Amino acid sequence: MLLPRIDLKRDFDRHRDEYLSAIEKVCVETAYSGGRFADEFAKEFAGYCNVKYCTGVNNGTTALQAAMIALGVGAGDEVIVPANTYIATAWGVTHAGATPVFADCTADTWEIDPDRIEEKITDRTKGIIGVHLYGQPFDFKRVKEIADRHSLFVVEDCAQAHGALFEGKRVGSLGDIGCFSFYPGKNLYAFGEGGACTSDNEEYIDTINVLKNQGCRVRYYHERVGYNMRLEGIQGAVLSVSLKYLDGWTKRRQEIGERYCREITNDKFILQAHPANTTPVYHLFEVQVPDPEDFLRYMGEHDVECNRHYPVPCHLQKAYSDLGYRQGDCPNAEKLADHCATLPLFPEMSDDEVSLVIDLCNRY
Ligand SMILES: *Cc1c(COP(=O)(O)O)cnc(C)c1O
Repeated sequence: MLLPRIDLKRDFDRHRDEYLSAIEKVCVETAYSGGRFADEFAKEFAGYCNVKYCTGVNNGTTALQAAMIALGVGAGDEVIVPANTYIATAWGVTHAGATPVFADCTADTWEIDPDRIEEKITDRTKGIIGVHLYGQPFDFKRVKEIADRHSLFVVEDCAQAHGALFEGKRVGSLGDIGCFSFYPGKNLYAFGEGGACTSDNEEYIDTINVLKNQGCRVRYYHERVGYNMRLEGIQGAVLSVSLKYLDGWTKRRQEIGERYCREITNDKFILQAHPANTTPVYHLFEVQVPDPEDFLRYMGEHDVECNRHYPVPCHLQKAYSDLGYRQGDCPNAEKLADHCATLPLFPEMSDDEVSLVIDLCNRY
């Protein structure tokens, strides 16, 4: 393949010495699980997100689960979640013992539709998880208005949107808790698994600190049923290196994303809307095409790798078949699932590679 959908090797090659010496420091101190390097990164990331508190965890899925537990979600509760997201948004709710209730996305931003939320609220509803999907912030203001009207929490799933802005504010600083993933390939990523929760509420982060650490503050004294959700020291050290480059990477993602938006003019493609009060960070560049499998084949024949996010919406996944959703329940999410294709986008792409993708799309 001439051009992969994403190529992490280019980042490693460019900053190899810095990454390896950061890892070596962790090894020298054997600070492998939690510890100084994980905690230092969490502090830096709180600063980056402009929140008072941040705690590192072992991945984005557990960040969501821990956030749910910290907010008091449990058996019998419901949490409203977009139908169009990576499935882990919903796992966080299910793993806390509650039920995800899927709401459709809008036809243009492909983010959770504020007009489809209120009809899903019952007396069991505890909160809403909005997802800043593909790096595009959801309409936080309208979601928050609805949440406040019904005394619900808002959790932000920021796994795809590190550094994105909604009305000038960083994602992760808007809702009650922000949940991040540092899975390889996310805009900020670890060399393995990683995640974090951000908040201005000390109590929530304190609870997550206890939960993630086997339910204890003092070793071997367990004050509640806990989990092992600690961030590894090596991941913290790698993330501290990467965080220094995040703004540069974001700028490059924005250049590429904006070129795609401007220069892909073939009317076979429908692109995501980016409202003026948001600053997206272009995690995945998703397009809708009439026949995505045909498009993937065409791009592959020209040595450009594309893939799809996500071919099945959450409410129609087999894992949730017991919830009783049917085709037609979330038509916008279903249309997106049927037609989505993901173009190559990563910060190290050259201008020529970006031009190649645009050219191929326009000739399709
Ligand atoms: C990646 C992702 C997650 C899960 O993060 P992991 O670190 O892979 O567990 C959750 N939500 C969204 C929207 C994601 O893209």
